[in-house]
Amino acid sequence: MSSNCLFCRIAAQQIPAHVVYQDDSLMAFLDIHPAREGHTLIIPREHHPYFEDIPPALMVRMTLLAQRVARAQKKLFKVERVGMAITGVHVAHAHIHLIPMATPNDILLLPLVEQQDLTVALPPQAESGQLALTATRIGQAVAQDSIEQPGDS
Ligand SMILES: [Zn+2]
Repeated sequence: MSSNCLFCRIAAQQIPAHVVYQDDSLMAFLDIHPAREGHTLIIPREHHPYFEDIPPALMVRMTLLAQRVARAQKKLFKVERVGMAITGVHVAHAHIHLIPMATPNDILLLPLVEQQDLTVALPPQAESGQLALTATRIGQAVAQDSIEQPGDS
C-alpha cells in the first residue's frame, strides 16, 4: 500500500466509498465525479500505478469483473452499451472506468472538460504510409516484450 495513494486508502477502508463489489483482491466503487449516473471504477487492492504493470491473472479478474458490472449497468440504466476506459489520469493507481453510455460521447468524460461547448468529430484519417510505419514500430516492440499468459504470476 502507498499511504499517499487515494485508491490504496479506499482499498484499506481508510476513506469511505460507495462500494458496489469487493473481494480479497478487487474493489468496484462509484466515481465521485461521474461522467454519467452509475460511473463505476474497478481497482486492484494492491498498488499498481499503471494497468500494464498488473499481474496477468489479476488483470483477467479485473476484466471479468468489468463485464459483470457492465451487465448490471446495462440492465439498471437501460443503455445499449457501457464504455470501458483506462486513462491513468488523476490517480496513479490503475483503475478501469465503466460508464453507462446513453450517447456515444459519454465515454469522453466531457463533464471533466471545463469548456462545455466543444464539438466532437472523428480525427482526420492518417496517411497509409505513416500507419504502416507506426504499425511496424509497435509490432516490433510488442514482439520484443515477453508474452505472459493469465495465471503466470
Ligand atoms: Zn494505490
